Amino acid sequence: SAMRDTRIQKTKTVCTFCGVGCTFDVWTKDRHILKIEPTPEAPVNGISTCVKGKFGWDFVNSEERLTTPLIRRGDTFVEATWEEAFDLIASKLSQIKEQHGADSLGFISSSKITNEENFLMQKLARGVIGTNNVDNCSRYCQSPATDGLFRTVGYGGDAGSIHDIANAGLVIIVGANPAEAHPVLATRVKRAHKLHGQKLVVADLRKHEMAERADVFVRPAPGTDHIWLSAVAKYIIDQGWQAEAFLREKVNGLDEYSRFLQTYTLEYAETITGIKRETLMEIARMIRDADGTCILWAMGVTQHCGGSDTSAAISNLLLISGNYGRPGAGAYPLRGHNNVQGACDFGTLPKFFPGYQLVTDEDVRSKFERAWGTPLSDKPGMDNHEMIDAIHEGKLKGMYLIGEDMAWVDSNANHVHAALGKLDFFVVQDIFFTKTAQFADVILPASPSLEKEGTFTNTERRIQRLYQVFEPLAGSKPDWQIICEIANRLGGDFSYRHPGEVMEEVARLTPLFAGVSYERLEGYKSLLWPVEADGTDTPLLYTQSFHFPDGKARLACVDWVPPVQMPDEYDLHLNNGRLLEHFHEGNLTNKSTGIQHKVPDTFVEVSPELAAERGIVDGMYVRLESPYGKVKVRAVVTDRVHGKELYLPMNSVSDEGAVNLLTSSFTDHITHTPAYKETKVKMTVLEER
Ligand code: SF4
Repeated sequence: SAMRDTRIQKTKTVCTFCGVGCTFDVWTKDRHILKIEPTPEAPVNGISTCVKGKFGWDFVNSEERLTTPLIRRGDTFVEATWEEAFDLIASKLSQIKEQHGADSLGFISSSKITNEENFLMQKLARGVIGTNNVDNCSRYCQSPATDGLFRTVGYGGDAGSIHDIANAGLVIIVGANPAEAHPVLATRVKRAHKLHGQKLVVADLRKHEMAERADVFVRPAPGTDHIWLSAVAKYIIDQGWQAEAFLREKVNGLDEYSRFLQTYTLEYAETITGIKRETLMEIARMIRDADGTCILWAMGVTQHCGGSDTSAAISNLLLISGNYGRPGAGAYPLRGHNNVQGACDFGTLPKFFPGYQLVTDEDVRSKFERAWGTPLSDKPGMDNHEMIDAIHEGKLKGMYLIGEDMAWVDSNANHVHAALGKLDFFVVQDIFFTKTAQFADVILPASPSLEKEGTFTNTERRIQRLYQVFEPLAGSKPDWQIICEIANRLGGDFSYRHPGEVMEEVARLTPLFAGVSYERLEGYKSLLWPVEADGTDTPLLYTQSFHFPDGKARLACVDWVPPVQMPDEYDLHLNNGRLLEHFHEGNLTNKSTGIQHKVPDTFVEVSPELAAERGIVDGMYVRLESPYGKVKVRAVVTDRVHGKELYLPMNSVSDEGAVNLLTSSFTDHITHTPAYKETKVKMTVLEER
């Protein structure tokens, strides 16, 4: 009889392809993945996954993985030992710090690396170098949502769990496409809608799958969500449908907010957004009649000059209708990357230590100073966007970046490229030779999630452990070990033997995570923050009070910020977003052959009306041009878009089709998240097919 093959292993991991946080067992033999097996114990997904989680992993064994540090010599890179690379990094960083001060260095962390690694990155910046110039790529997507929630309810996270969404009577999705970007979460909504009478409202420029399923689908003019949301809030108050007792007991500022809303009439909303007043009245009635309303939103809301304010407007609407503090109600910003939530929670933000403790708060600062045995800066740092500008101004000289393809993910790529080219010293740490790495002085080969331990935090604030499936590919190292080695060479004492020890330190210093420990996260166990010292976690926020000193929520009176104006020749609005099959800039999924062949070329969606007007047929090449750059892509004619709307997937496959060659440097006026969704272009039809 055949012997059981002992080389076959089964290891639990957390999916890295979106913020839903599915977990599953990875069956392996040596370095081969035999299968991905979701189990009923998985708290988010149970036995389901989507195509990315199931098939997206062969990048781990890609020939293109970086397996040795590289050091720039003129226009090329030469292979180096880890020792050489570390020594060079330590000497360059200390030299720049001596000459230009700690604030001339910047640190960009990643929402793809673990919580523990994010903690170490900000500890390196703050505790070893002495600067708060540390940020992560949530700056590109979700910072505005967090800000809107900070202002109104206090915590920058989903109000409840993903399971709770199924209990809602009404789900409103604004500027998000969960069927492609958060597939397993979308499945919950689809099921509740189909089988349990849940109502669904979708507001989007593009008629995507969820829009097709919706009871009410509206297409507000680009950048006008704030107005229709506020008009619905005003109509609810005018009709006397507001949650009277809830507002009296739990919310501040109703009178002021009601006065503020005076301009947001249905007539005004119809004029600006193009949504019929009857439809807005219907949405208001649906909220009134629903047993619980959840509002889900993503980058269609946040990536605008007024993205933070619109996020606050969403929260306002939930507050006046009493939709917080019970299952099936509340705000759900949908985090994109797997660890957007955790990167922010664990402190790679310019104003916050871990757990959103302000660097300007003296008590907080002295707590960290005592723990780390070093004085810390009280000056808030620069965010990504400010760092790019500071490089252009000659103030930022050196940068250490992990796991972020900033050169193509940030908006106005040409402007970013010029900045990166000016750095005196630039370290890029990644698993592949990214486009950003082309600008580096030193490139360090890191290990992906399957090759290390740690935790990730998904969109619903759930902290989950991942276990090491494979040894790090020969030549690469886990990010946490690399950060420790660099910190130690710069005079730090980063003597962690395991990420679990990092988590112990975080728990000691961070009230939000007081009771978080690896024991409590063993296997498929998970915790939703805040976690009290005794281990009690919080699947549902705000059941007793809101996260402000007086326990009351705050209605935010914030005016609509109109979208950026462009010269008339840029006559088409260019929208962008994800494809189901791809992950962000495509760095991982482009390396997966199983996924690559399904969507081989970059394309732009053109409406049938526009195609007829310009003589475009499917497959023709067009040139799109904005004031910042141009791209050449194929046209796909589809009624998913309408009128003068174009849609370009952001998972660019070819360099010449990269959407960020077209986007501007305009940003959300509070968080500096790029206004990717406020891009105008002109289109030229090219002859070739
Ligand atoms: Fe992974 Fe997201 Fe798909 Fe779940 S829904 S398997 S977390 S990509």
